[in-house]
Amino acid sequence: MIGRFRSVAQLIASISPEVPVHLLRPHRIGAAARTFVDGFPGDVAFAVKCNAHPLVLTTLRGNGVRRFDVASPLEIERVREAVADGIAFYHHPAKTVSQIAWAWGQGVVHFAVDCVAELEKLVNHTGAGVVPMVRLAIPKEAGAVYDLSTKFGAPPARFLDTVRRAAELGLAPGVTFHVGSQCLSAEGFRLGIRMACELIAEAGVPIALMDIGGGFPAYYRKTQAPPLSEFFRVIAGAKAEWADPLGIRLMCEPGRALVAEGGSLLTRIVLRKPEAIHLNDGIFGGLCEVYWGKEELSLPYRVLTADGATRNGPVERVTVYGPTCDGNDFLPYPLELPAGTTDGDYIEFNLIGAYGREMAGSYNGMVSNAVAVIEADFAGHGGHE
Ligand SMILES: *Cc1c(COP(=O)(O)O)cnc(C)c1O
Repeated sequence: MIGRFRSVAQLIASISPEVPVHLLRPHRIGAAARTFVDGFPGDVAFAVKCNAHPLVLTTLRGNGVRRFDVASPLEIERVREAVADGIAFYHHPAKTVSQIAWAWGQGVVHFAVDCVAELEKLVNHTGAGVVPMVRLAIPKEAGAVYDLSTKFGAPPARFLDTVRRAAELGLAPGVTFHVGSQCLSAEGFRLGIRMACELIAEAGVPIALMDIGGGFPAYYRKTQAPPLSEFFRVIAGAKAEWADPLGIRLMCEPGRALVAEGGSLLTRIVLRKPEAIHLNDGIFGGLCEVYWGKEELSLPYRVLTADGATRNGPVERVTVYGPTCDGNDFLPYPLELPAGTTDGDYIEFNLIGAYGREMAGSYNGMVSNAVAVIEADFAGHGGHE
């Protein structure tokens, strides 16, 4: 943490950073957490892989989010260190026996499984009270920008086998699914809840908890999705129709929608050429997710001068190269930059609080751990175009 600043302009004026700086806006993370805690009809967990910075975890805890979806022992440790009373849900469906045994020893009770083999591993390396969360694969039509059911989740027949086997083993299983990341329509959740409840009824096994995953959208430049309140309304309707009659409680575990707006990335122009710029960060760093070139996820950005003033005026399209010597290290779309943009200027990319700093590597020795808190909102043009 390099400091706390009222605004990005004040940060630039005081420290003129040459390395990329991840800017956190805890007030935005707190507001997003309260939106979920107040609006979602069930418990709210946070998917730690989006952003495991201690300030992010403590801010969420301070705003009512006490549950954390984790996928590794290191993520469990990060939660433990930041949030003493945090509850970890080990929702990776493929774990080693030592990971399972270690997590159980740490007090973790909920573990995702998506086949009988993983379920049996779980039974053999934990003890009484363990809750297998059987993960169902959701069809692609759910409407997400990223499909997550290609890799994890049991198709219906295997889902039924796994739930029934858990009951035979004397366990009280839960159920989980993930509609995919950046889901643009609430129908995906409705479909998931309905499909899971119909299968649960068919299995004839009592289920207390259904975790409907993450996938709630953040509002990037081109996002055409209804507000979160509409997602909550549709989910509450599906809960009343299908889950309530079976006595099933809901939980969700968003990542992106809780923290994307709570972080931006302050990069600096190393070299200006007529048609391109070389930036001090790129797709192997904080702009990793941009690499996938999903237009839907295009980031809002703004240019500031070396003095911290906002640069405006007519724009031109410019290719953006990242700092490494790898030929793949450029942004998949050009940026529109004000004509006078030059060496030493800064570009602030917003909505990088999810899948930004966590994904950054240290390729070519290009790495920055600098994090600062900014008290003001992002001052560029914000969400929708
Ligand atoms: C990545 C992930 C999430 C978070 O997804 P978002 O799209 O960021 O909300 C939640 N649950 C699991 C199991 C995940 O792998």
